[in-house]
Amino acid sequence: MDNLSTRIWDVDKSWHKILEIIKDQVSPINYKMWFAKSSCDGEVDEKFIIYVATHFIKQEIHSKHQNVLEEAVKQVLGKSLPIDLRVSSSKSHADKAQEDDNFELNLFSNVSKSNITNLNPRYSLENFVVGLSNNLAYAAAQAVIQNPGLSYNPLFIYGGTGVGKTHLMVGVGHALLKKNPSLKIIYSPLEQFTNDLVQGIQTKSMAQFRTKYRSCNLLLIDDVQFLSGRDSTQEEFFHTFNDLQSKNIQIIVTADRPPHEIQKLEPRLASRFQGGMMVDIQLPDFDTRVAILKAKCKEKGDNIPENCLTLIAENMPTNGRELEGKLMQIIQTLKLTGKEFNEENVRFLLGKVNSRSDHKIDSKKVLAGINQYFDLKMVDLIGPNRKKDLVRSRQIAMYILYQDCKLAYEKIGEMLGGRDHTTIMHGVEKIGEIVGKDSEVQKTIEDIKQKLVG
Ligand code: ADP
Ligand code: MG
Repeated sequence: MDNLSTRIWDVDKSWHKILEIIKDQVSPINYKMWFAKSSCDGEVDEKFIIYVATHFIKQEIHSKHQNVLEEAVKQVLGKSLPIDLRVSSSKSHADKAQEDDNFELNLFSNVSKSNITNLNPRYSLENFVVGLSNNLAYAAAQAVIQNPGLSYNPLFIYGGTGVGKTHLMVGVGHALLKKNPSLKIIYSPLEQFTNDLVQGIQTKSMAQFRTKYRSCNLLLIDDVQFLSGRDSTQEEFFHTFNDLQSKNIQIIVTADRPPHEIQKLEPRLASRFQGGMMVDIQLPDFDTRVAILKAKCKEKGDNIPENCLTLIAENMPTNGRELEGKLMQIIQTLKLTGKEFNEENVRFLLGKVNSRSDHKIDSKKVLAGINQYFDLKMVDLIGPNRKKDLVRSRQIAMYILYQDCKLAYEKIGEMLGGRDHTTIMHGVEKIGEIVGKDSEVQKTIEDIKQKLVG
């Protein structure tokens, strides 16, 4: 390779690494919106040059993600460099800009493509297991399917993480779509609603935003606990809500707690939520856990002996997500090591799992426990350093303090050196996402909690 090719190759490699770090630190939607289509020219005149497609993206990165970007560049290059964000004007970048504009427009376009939805195909009611812990919620969902917009509007489904709220809500979407394939259904996590709103305001396209959210036949908003403290989102959500409700259009929302326990939620919204049907989903009992494990095996085409599934269900008095994660971890380990799927091997792999449901974790011990586990100092854990490992440890602390100690975001922010509550929300959400997919992280969290209770 000549010098120029080598340089381009190195820059591309570094940029790829930088993007990987950023991907890990911001939410998937933010990554897609602000970083996925940027490019870089590497170090020029002691500056790190990055090209983005529009002024809007530049502003957004500058105001919200500059620290993450700087830190990622520092980690990969081994030194701090000022970042020079440029709006690209060259031909190839102009093409990208066009793509980006299309992407921005696409955010608002799924209304017209009525039968193309973003409903996760895995989350159908056919593979939703009904048991004592969720039968009321399931019955309410069925009533909504019979009489959308009329029986229970809104339907508010709440419960701890991983108990099947999203699955049930999306399942209703599939069932209604089956009855009427031309329905316009919007499924949106609250974070996406917020991002669409911010974009609507900043690009002066609020009309499109409102068309998107108000011309559907079914609105599914996931995780509305993230409305907490977001005043303008609450304002807009309230109006969206009223508009749809006045037209008898069905709204389903989920949250990890009932409305009155969501901090900094306007009373008028809380009372709207309470005005429909509120149903909770509890942790599954033993029989439901066995049935969930069977359903997951069937879905993935794995044939696992029933006594092994019973053993897992007995040892894991926990939610569907953790059960599924553990099952996958065991299947993978046994496949990799070529071992047989029998009780003895499964018992061995379950070795560390104990019932922890009766134990309370003392919030005052969490930070010390995290420091001890990851071998960190308190000043680092609560300080400003954004090194990847440190950020992850800090986010795990947020997750445990929120999920297990039930502390409010504000309180957790105080404990972690005065961080803003939105940072805490993001951290909790991030780990929640990872825990569902990555059995290693799941195991780490289990180990930390074991140490904290025992
Ligand atoms: P939540 O939204 O409450 O955090 P999810 O709906 O994302 O939980 O569920 C987490 C995982 O557990 C999903 O893979 C889901 O399919 C599975 N799960 C949870 N409860 C059930 C259930 N009753 N039947 C089948 N799968 C379930
Ligand atoms: Mg969910």
